[in-house]
Amino acid sequence: MDDCEQEIKRFEKVRCEYAGELEKLYHTALADAGEKTAGIFKAYRTIVEDDFLFKNPIQTVREEHIGIDYAIEQEKEKISAKFASMSDAYMQERSNDIRNVCDEVIRRLNGVTGTGQETQNMRESFILVAEDLSPEDTIRIDKRFLRGFITEKGGITSHVVILAKTLGIPAVVGAAGIMQEARSGQTIFIDGDRGYGVLEPDEAFVRDFLKEKTGIDERKKLYAAMAEKPAVTVDGHKVAVCMNSGDAESLRNFRVEQCDGVGLFRTEFLFMDQHDYPDEELQFRTYRKIAESAQGKEVIIRTLDIGGDKQLDYMKIPKENNPFLGYRAIRICLDREEVFLTQLRAILRASAFGNIKIMFPMIVTLEELRQAKKMVEKAKALLRAEKIDFEENIPVGIMIETPASVLISDKLAKEAAFFSIGTNDLIQYTTATDRMNESVQHLYDPCNLSVLRSIDLVIRNAHKEGIPVGMCGEVASDERLTPLLLAMGLDEFSVVPKQVGRVKYLIGQYDLGKLSGLTEQVLASDSIEEVKRLLAEHTAE
Ligand code: PEP
Ligand code: MG
Repeated sequence: MDDCEQEIKRFEKVRCEYAGELEKLYHTALADAGEKTAGIFKAYRTIVEDDFLFKNPIQTVREEHIGIDYAIEQEKEKISAKFASMSDAYMQERSNDIRNVCDEVIRRLNGVTGTGQETQNMRESFILVAEDLSPEDTIRIDKRFLRGFITEKGGITSHVVILAKTLGIPAVVGAAGIMQEARSGQTIFIDGDRGYGVLEPDEAFVRDFLKEKTGIDERKKLYAAMAEKPAVTVDGHKVAVCMNSGDAESLRNFRVEQCDGVGLFRTEFLFMDQHDYPDEELQFRTYRKIAESAQGKEVIIRTLDIGGDKQLDYMKIPKENNPFLGYRAIRICLDREEVFLTQLRAILRASAFGNIKIMFPMIVTLEELRQAKKMVEKAKALLRAEKIDFEENIPVGIMIETPASVLISDKLAKEAAFFSIGTNDLIQYTTATDRMNESVQHLYDPCNLSVLRSIDLVIRNAHKEGIPVGMCGEVASDERLTPLLLAMGLDEFSVVPKQVGRVKYLIGQYDLGKLSGLTEQVLASDSIEEVKRLLAEHTAE
């Protein structure tokens, strides 16, 4: 059999499996929620089994020897545009269905399954139980009625959890066996902060929780009020507390008075929300919106950090055995100039409308920083020639999230305008612990001395060169480490929106003068336990 026929056979297999799953989903939904709700799965099944829809892509594969996923993508655009242009609202709606089905088939062809289509017809509050979720699934899940999710796989700093936190959705990962145990319609209690769930909680549990909830609600009010005030230690030391953003929801809900700026704008979420590369205009509008909303406060826009657990079908990144050590972030951007240049042009154009800074992820060499900065200069030159406004002195900084960048931070500090420590990756790369793998999460510990020494070294090297250091990884909102980070001299904490007030409150509890010596003491410890004990002794009440 030649390659084309193999490709078509692969498609038929995917199609058949998907149709079978839709059939099952239909029956489950029918039993749980009735015909009206279940109907969508029947409609999807009709579409996926429609030979007419897939006739052209199959023919194109035979004639042009291209991948079936690409051929379906092309056909999807044509057909869904045709339906979308019809005057009948029902037919317009079908355009979305065709798009969803084709996207799902393409994802499955690319080895991605379980993309949350099941959630699209939910009409009452639900908690999603899944084996695993990708950030792309999470972006696409219909969140109107989603109250939280719990998955078997995943690590506490996987992007799914980060995204959930950013959206304020409780999420629990690493819940082994939950798929076996949970049944549709059951009650589940989940605590996203403490990372556990309880199936069918009994009365006593609910009573205790409700008692505790009063205190939690009080604290929430206190933190909300704190978000609008500056973060100042007892002895008057001011620290910036910014917000991590990037997803559409955070962008919509952004309130400038509730933070000191945006310390990390993850642009990959914009790319995930699209079915193809967002063009310069769309990117420009998004970056301009956040820059304007920030009203002069800083907005650190991180260039595309795709790869690792953030994959995009349309980028056609080859499958890798070790994606976190592979083709990721700045490596892709330096390799795919067109994508990088388009993004840099959009960021630069937006810089005329606010206080934007550019940040590169995953830097491991000085050469990468230089090359990336050269690309910024190239984008500037293009805009200048086109007489388009931008901020000539836009600061260009980097993420410190690899041991390589820590060890050469003295050199990097001479050529970067600022650092932002990405502890999510720094912990995984320093301790060789996959941030996605639930079975090694016990080793993924920010209190590992290697991580703390790295943070300290980076701050010292940055300050020697007079550049500021922020932290945009999840450790920035880990209350155990707040006194240590203050003692080390961290200039900026950047955390998910809901944590800004809490972190400001925590900072306000400490007297920097009384923390002198803490860094040396902690860094001289012999074990993680000792570090934790020392930190606990210094935790403010
Ligand atoms: C980090 O690694 O800490 C970080 C902020 O980047 P991301 O979580 O997006 O990899
Ligand atoms: Mg990172």
